[in-house]
Amino acid sequence: MNCQRLFIFFIIFSLISCKDNKKTAHSTKIEKISRSKDDIYYKYQEPTKNLMDLYPFEEETAGFFKITKEFFRCKGNPLNPERVDTSNLDNVKVYLDCVGPIKHSLPLINGKEGVYPVLIDILNFVQRKTKKRVVITCGHRCPKHNSYADISNIAKTSKHLIGAEVDFYIQGLENSPLKVMDLIFDFYKEDSRYRGSEEYEGFQQYQKETDVSTPPWHNKEIFVKLYQYNEGRDFNNRHPYPYICIQVLYDRSTKQKVNYTWEKAYRGYLQH
Ligand SMILES: [Zn+2]
Repeated sequence: MNCQRLFIFFIIFSLISCKDNKKTAHSTKIEKISRSKDDIYYKYQEPTKNLMDLYPFEEETAGFFKITKEFFRCKGNPLNPERVDTSNLDNVKVYLDCVGPIKHSLPLINGKEGVYPVLIDILNFVQRKTKKRVVITCGHRCPKHNSYADISNIAKTSKHLIGAEVDFYIQGLENSPLKVMDLIFDFYKEDSRYRGSEEYEGFQQYQKETDVSTPPWHNKEIFVKLYQYNEGRDFNNRHPYPYICIQVLYDRSTKQKVNYTWEKAYRGYLQH
């Protein structure tokens, strides 16, 4: 009985399908398209490249992200391999990198987390003037990353530890660091907070011995070193370019000198 019903259903279904096919065949119209070789339907225009308008918050920095304190966070990474110091075979030391900025904050400066604001202001000025990206290779270093990145004695009291030092170069001006130096001097001439003040505008060259071949420059607020391509190659500066290091000497907001202290370096930031 079931087989009979199925057979009848199959016959009806086949007939309906055939009927539909016929209908489609009848409704198809074939129209001849004719055109001559001179017919032009659309004028072809060469495409032109339009640059996207900048958002208001991008204008100040010529399309690059405005530099904030976030750019200065410790570059420690637990995936970095251990470093072994074999300079003294009687006392071989093994250094591990820090867990990274998710586990600790930037330094607390005058009660606020961050770095000294003048560093941010100068780098934004340079980025705006050059219209090229500032690459910060080293901002804040927590003590663990500091020991890992630079085992030299001079690094033990580095101002990177207290948020008062930055290393950077400019993408596109990698081999012209003196042009960047000039812009740092211009910052003090153009910024209304400093303009006209000899102790800020008047940079002098430091004549005592340092770890760089080019005598550093300084004014009341900052001390600027130029590391040539073969100088200062710590773990954060493994690139082949010269780079500039700015250290903060004086805090204008508190009218105090900025010095390294163990307390600020080791207790002056939060650990999560
Ligand atoms: Zn760290």
